[in-house]
Amino acid sequence: MGTTLKVKPLKDWIDLGDKPLIISGPCSAESYDQLMRTGKELAKIDQVKIIRAGIWKPRTRPEIFEGVGETALEWLLELKKETSLKTCVEVATPEHIELALKYQVDVLWIGARTTVNPFSVQILADVLKGVDIPVMVKNPLHPDLKLWVGALERINNAGITKLAAIHRGFYTYDNKPFRNLPMWEIPIELKRLIPSLPIIVDPSHICGNRTLLASVAQRALDLSMDGLMFESHYNPDIALTDAEQQLTPKNLELLLSNLVVRKEYGNQDFENILEKLRHEIDLMDHELLSILSRREEKTKQIGVYKKTNNITVLQIDRLRKMIQERLDYGEKLGLDYAFILKLLQLVHKDSIRVQTDIMQENS
Ligand code: PEP
Ligand code: MN
Repeated sequence: MGTTLKVKPLKDWIDLGDKPLIISGPCSAESYDQLMRTGKELAKIDQVKIIRAGIWKPRTRPEIFEGVGETALEWLLELKKETSLKTCVEVATPEHIELALKYQVDVLWIGARTTVNPFSVQILADVLKGVDIPVMVKNPLHPDLKLWVGALERINNAGITKLAAIHRGFYTYDNKPFRNLPMWEIPIELKRLIPSLPIIVDPSHICGNRTLLASVAQRALDLSMDGLMFESHYNPDIALTDAEQQLTPKNLELLLSNLVVRKEYGNQDFENILEKLRHEIDLMDHELLSILSRREEKTKQIGVYKKTNNITVLQIDRLRKMIQERLDYGEKLGLDYAFILKLLQLVHKDSIRVQTDIMQENS
């Protein structure tokens, strides 16, 4: 999938030094006191640059708290004036954008339930034409990288270059132990496709609880992600939405102080040694591919032999024994069970493809 986006670096719209961007604030703005109290405590934490607050909440079922609406934007503006925090809110309709701009919100984000719908994203993009405001696009609910990129392209095509992605995890049938599976390979692939695009990770919606937040946040930083968004509340237990995953500002401060921010590149000595080690890896990968090529030759030979003798491509007993034997051997070598299983399944799938081609050749 080729894509070209024109994206400004984060430091063009927010003063960060070489630290990750930290965004925090309540899942929902619930009351004047709740927002002010939480916001003022957050403002005391050096690393926190932007306060988030849900003004209109996308709820699964009707007739429960759906956010305070415009009044909460007045509170947020007051908070912005009283602290050094910038503000950000979720927008899902043109009216939300209009009101967010009216109340001088600094950054907008598009929620996961909006990103899934190209019609909705395009409507927002059309309203954003000619507006100079940073926009962050959350991943769609389900693991569809193209849909995420498509939404980013729509917003970028509208002229928004202060653009970032938010990784909030993906909803799949079995998410345990997360609320939304992180599936790190997807944001990594997004970085590979669009290296200039900042990616903010939202551990709160990935975890759905407080216990996993620190490890997910550290993982994000170790994968060179550009920032973190955490939900916080002065008293999470009484929060009207997402109570289990919100942190008190004090606990957020503690979590942030325990994070290790590593550099992406080292000094010359480090790079020299790294290059030598990587060269060894390159040689091993070539060896691996040569072995796979020799394996494929053997597979073909077996395919021809089966065909001549009118034998099926698949013998389930052999497959079961082969996989079990390799899993046991892999375990002895200290390799990860799930990884070896996936690898063997992939290798076997390719053998089936090669032999099926042979069976179908006219001879
Ligand atoms: C939120 O940030 O509160 C929210 C609704 O998130 P998401 O769109 O990721 O579910
Ligand atoms: Mn939330």
